[in-house]
Parts: sequence; structure tokens; C-alpha cells
Amino acid sequence: MRPLRLCLVASEVAPFAKTGGLADVLTGLGRWLGRKPPAGPGHEVRLFLPYYQRIAERDVATKPLPGASNLEIRFPNRTIRCSIRTTPLPQSDVLVHLVDCPELYGRPDLYTEDADEALRFAVLCRAVLETCQRLQWAPDVVHCNDWHTGLLPLYLRTTYAWDRLFAHTKTLLTIHNIGYQGVFPDSQLEALGLGEQRAHLHHGDLRDGRFSCLKTGVLHANKLSTVSRTYAREILTPEFGMGMDELLRTREHDLFGIVNGVDYGDWNPGTDPLLPHHYNANDLSGKAQMKAALLGRMGLPHDPRAPVFGVVSRLTAQKGFELFADSIPVFLQREDMRLLVLGSGETQHEKYFQWLRDTWPNKVAVYRGFHDELAHWIEAGSDVFLMPSRFEPCGLNQMYSLRYGTPPVVRRTGGLADTVQAWDPNTRQGNGFLFDAFTSQALAGTIDWVLRNWRDQRGWRELVKNGMRCDFSWEKQGPEYVGLYRSLVS
Ligand code: ADP
Repeated sequence: MRPLRLCLVASEVAPFAKTGGLADVLTGLGRWLGRKPPAGPGHEVRLFLPYYQRIAERDVATKPLPGASNLEIRFPNRTIRCSIRTTPLPQSDVLVHLVDCPELYGRPDLYTEDADEALRFAVLCRAVLETCQRLQWAPDVVHCNDWHTGLLPLYLRTTYAWDRLFAHTKTLLTIHNIGYQGVFPDSQLEALGLGEQRAHLHHGDLRDGRFSCLKTGVLHANKLSTVSRTYAREILTPEFGMGMDELLRTREHDLFGIVNGVDYGDWNPGTDPLLPHHYNANDLSGKAQMKAALLGRMGLPHDPRAPVFGVVSRLTAQKGFELFADSIPVFLQREDMRLLVLGSGETQHEKYFQWLRDTWPNKVAVYRGFHDELAHWIEAGSDVFLMPSRFEPCGLNQMYSLRYGTPPVVRRTGGLADTVQAWDPNTRQGNGFLFDAFTSQALAGTIDWVLRNWRDQRGWRELVKNGMRCDFSWEKQGPEYVGLYRSLVS
């Protein structure tokens, strides 16, 4: 079978721009898709994202993409000029194309609440298509990701429908998180060049004076996917669909759930360049050293017998930390344990963790912010990883923690349900701990159960090894995407 020409478009790609799992997924999938046989399927891949100010500032070696400078993207009342810069995706031959438009992306943050936020990502969508035109490169599939790319399928069907180059181009939209939909006042449609396309937009939204980029993508992409099988079922229900379940049910047969892969090149405790000590399932001594090093770094006393609970997360309502309020203090009061938190987000959660730290300064340490290296250290040096999400499309951290020998405590939802199996000390099967009800009691009961199992260190080692042997690599997960691309093309 011939290699496919694939365009992957997203608002984040690691290591260039990352706020969450989306960035890791684009990098891991892109890298694997482009890897030459026999290591990978050897597709022709181009990855697109904005050339944000923080990429420009970070001294990434980029150069102009020949033939793709001075693009003029025409909207009814203005023309946006941009150029494409390019750089290889680290550890791969895949090309990353960065849409250079200081007027739109020369701002401190990736995402803004500025009045032109819809335009910023509409330009990303159109720059992708204009670049393909300039290069006369016809993608078989444009793989869109989340709301930022939701308008692309519609632009392809309308603004660019005249161009035979795209006659056979198909679109896939992957929903990484339905909590972010890109909803804007419909008064902006005209400026986005979609004033004439109201018939193609969600009518209920238009009645309410708005439009949603994600819904537009769901309406017009040839196929849809999301990042785990369970989440693919969940988003069809009012409880998880965030107002999109009804629309999604109309496209149920085009919606697929594919669990994210992990790039074990970046996330491997045996070789991780961000760690001072290394280990594997057969020799865990490096993990014990990591625990000591981590506690030292975070300024907490070290005792090998006291379990370390780790958190690395965006601190948002999605992640379920409100369940800590009536559970964690009881354990901090009663048990010799440590809690390490890395994250930032909503003030109430940040304040809560600061309160825990102030109340139990010898047991709790908090780093507020984004810190890639510390994330790796916490995965490696903790004994238990906490992820009590209210909803979780896939979740990468629980898969990282499994590989780093840090059994996760998760709520049975979305990708957490698909990747974590409950530990059973009798059969010695399972890789972590799960609870169902979104209540503090359910979390507390599970932590209690974790602590009881922790006391049996022989059993615990089995549990750790079960997790470390799980394989969520792109080698395993990637072929499902290729199957989906091929089904679109055939
Ligand atoms: P989400 O995409 O919803 O944020 P995931 O578990 O899928 O959650 O992915 C989160 C990714 O972001 C992981 O790679 C995790 O290590 C990283 N991450 C989250 N918060 C931080 C932080 N404060 N510092 C460093 N990395 C973080």
C-alpha cells in the first residue's frame, strides 16, 4: 500500500508549545507515522501549529519553508499575511510547519481571551490549506484536533472547494477534550469569511447568536474520533457531552475511540535524560534513589516507609481535586505520608494546595507552575499517582505513571477506565486503583485500600511491575489511526 500524505494540525505540539496532553499526542503520533519501515509505517507527514511568541523566543532553529512565504489569507474585511517556517520534529524526519504571523501569535500565551481568538485559529486552518496549495501537495487526510481546527473541514468544503488539488482530501477531527468548544458570537462569522455559510452551521447555536468551532468540525469532518473507547461512549450522553451529545449521536457511526499512545522515547525510566537515576522493572533500586532525590528537591523529610503521593496536573474542575477536601486531610493527619503537587490553574485549587502545605509543611510540597523536568521526577520518585478526574478523555499521566512504576489512583471514567485495571492482591493481577462514585468518600476508601496494600511490600512490587510492563506505545495504538485514515481514503 502506498504511503499516505497526512497533514496533522493542532494548537500544540511538544516540545514547541505545550499546556497539556494534546501536545504529547501530536508529537508521538506524528513521529511514529513518519518513521520509516520497519520501525514505522513511513507516511509523509506535515505537522502544523502557530509560531507562538514563546517558540520564537526559545531559539528553536527554524527556517522559511521554500515556496510558502508571504501567504495572503483573504477575509472579507482584511487580509492576513503570514509565512511558514519549518523545523524537523525532534528525533524524527517529520516536518513541523509553523505559521508565522506576529500580529496573531506574537502574544505571551498560547490561548487568549482577546477579541480575535476565533480569527487566530481560523488563520491556522486556512494557512494549512494555502500552504498545501503553494506546495501543490495534496494531502490524503487532514487530521484536525480540537476546536482550534474545527473550522478547517468547512473551509475545505466552501472557500477551497474550487481547487481540484483537494478533490480527494478527507478530514478527520479528533476531540481531545469536549470541555473546550471554541464558542463565539455569530457576529464574527462575517469577518471569518463564513457569513454566507450560516446554512452549514449549527442552527440552534445561531438562534442563540453564537457558533461553535468544535460543533462546526463535528458537522463537517468526514470522520470523528476521540481519545479512548470509553470517552467515545460517554460523550454521547448528556452527562459527558457538554451540550454536544445530541449532535454527536447523529454522527455516532462515524465516531471512533482510539486510546492515545505514549512516546516511550520521551517517557522511559530506563533512559529518561531528565532523571539523575534510572531503573527498570527488574531493578527498582533507581526508583528508591529517585524518591530520596525528589523529596530532597521538594524540601521534605525522606523515609522509605512513608508513601509519596504525586500529582501533576492542570488544576481545573475536570481533574476532580475538589474530592481532596474531605479526604486528604484525614490521611495527612493520621498517616506518615507525603503529598507532592505540581500544577497550576484555578485559584481555588491553588489556594487549597497551599493551605495543605501550610498546614502540614513536613508532609506536603507544592510547585505552582509548569515544569517539565519536575513532572518526570514526580512520576519517577512518587509511590502513588493521584488522578481523581471528574472526566478524562484519555489522560496520559496515568500511563506515564504506570511506566514509571507509580501505580495510579483514578476514577473509572474515559481513558482512565480503559488503561487502569484494579489491583487484586489475591490474583496479583491489575496495575492500579479505581473508584466509581465522584465523592470524597469513594476516594478516601480507595486511599485507605492503597495504604493497606502498601504495607505488603512484596505484593506492591508485583503491582508496580504489572504497571511497568503495560504497553501503550504508539507502535500499538498508531495502527488504529492508520486504519481510520485508510478507511477515509478508500
Ligand atoms: P490534560 O491534557 O487534560 O492536561 P493529560 O494527562 O492527558 O491531561 O496530559 C497532561 C500532560 O501535561 C502530561 O504530559 C503532563 O506531564 C503535563 N503536565 C500537566 N501539568 C503540568 C505541569 N504543571 N508541569 C509540567 N507538565 C505538566
